[in-house]
Amino acid sequence: MGPKVWRFVRKDAVDCGQKIGTLFAYCKHMNAPSYPSMAAIELVGLTKRYAPGAKPAVDSINLRIASGSYCCLLGPSGCGKSTTLRMVAGHESVTEGDILLENRNITDLPAAARGTAMMFQSFALFPHLSALDNVAFSLKMKGVAKAERLEQARSLLDRVAMGHLAERKPGELSGGQQQRVALARALITQPRVLLLDEPLSALDPFLRIQMRAELRRWQKELGLTFIHVTHSQEEAMALADTMVVMNHGVIVQSGSPHEIYNRPANEFVARFMGGHNVIETPTGKIGVRTDHIALSPAQGADDAGAHAQIALVSDVEYQGTYVLVGLQSPGALHSAHSTAQWSVMLSEAAFSAQPLSVGDTVRMSWAPEAEHWLSD
Ligand code: ADP
Ligand code: MG
Repeated sequence: MGPKVWRFVRKDAVDCGQKIGTLFAYCKHMNAPSYPSMAAIELVGLTKRYAPGAKPAVDSINLRIASGSYCCLLGPSGCGKSTTLRMVAGHESVTEGDILLENRNITDLPAAARGTAMMFQSFALFPHLSALDNVAFSLKMKGVAKAERLEQARSLLDRVAMGHLAERKPGELSGGQQQRVALARALITQPRVLLLDEPLSALDPFLRIQMRAELRRWQKELGLTFIHVTHSQEEAMALADTMVVMNHGVIVQSGSPHEIYNRPANEFVARFMGGHNVIETPTGKIGVRTDHIALSPAQGADDAGAHAQIALVSDVEYQGTYVLVGLQSPGALHSAHSTAQWSVMLSEAAFSAQPLSVGDTVRMSWAPEAEHWLSD
């Protein structure tokens, strides 16, 4: 959808909100056949070194992000997520490699000329300006006439269901309402790609889940490409069409949340995603989901057989709908500092049918198809 279409939709929205969904769907439909596999963003050998000769913060990454998709960059603190996003935004120079936006090389363009916009956290709103003036601000900087910029800002506030609060200052709005103003402020530059760096991390847990659902809904409704940085695997799983897992400046795995959760490529991804056990076997490491393991009584540390492992119960945690059983390999339990090596999630019913106590010897077993190899 080009800027002209966007403009048409937005003007139309002022008096005819109902048509928006249909119009957006129509525009997307029109675009779909002409660009069947166009990437909104393509990173080619993208590298960032903050100092010459230093270890790269981002190390020659290659990535294609499908147009109109929700992409989450996920990984532990310091792995290079923000650096990657800032390079795409044009807020950080690129050491090597290229950034393409819809096949246009934007690597060296200034931030404002790229077709990207960064949605800053809600606390970055100007406290002394009304919601309306906050949203209109970047158009004011561009020299757009007052009536025109206020009309555009008002229409965007309507779109994020904030039209009735346009005159309020950020301090007079709830956290969720401020977040919507921040979204409208980012959208006013008509970006093709919206960039979000940990946008929910300052919100309390309840609001975070509510705003997460809103972001997802706005992204689908607007049909824009979102690139959202987070260190929370739960947040990424809830939001992403495509998850890109990073570690030490490189991409370790990318795919749908389902693919990554069910087929973590290596031990790092399995542990970072959680919900998996990493088990050493004579032929290498395997991953097995915590809810795909059964426990049965075992007499001693005898041979467990294939697709099984003898273990000692080190911990039993009641979690409501399920019970989490912590386990260790026999012999390891006596260490005072030991923490559970594996965990098994049992339904409350399964646990009550065969209760376990700390110190019990059990046999962990799983179906052959529940295990998969982890590369190093
Ligand atoms: P993330 O967002 O995944 O937590 P960052 O992209 O912020 O990670 O940082 C990646 C690496 O680059 C880290 O080691 C960090 O210390 C370093 N880094 C980030 N910004 C700068 C900077 N402005 N100058 C020097 N080093 C930086
Ligand atoms: Mg960061």
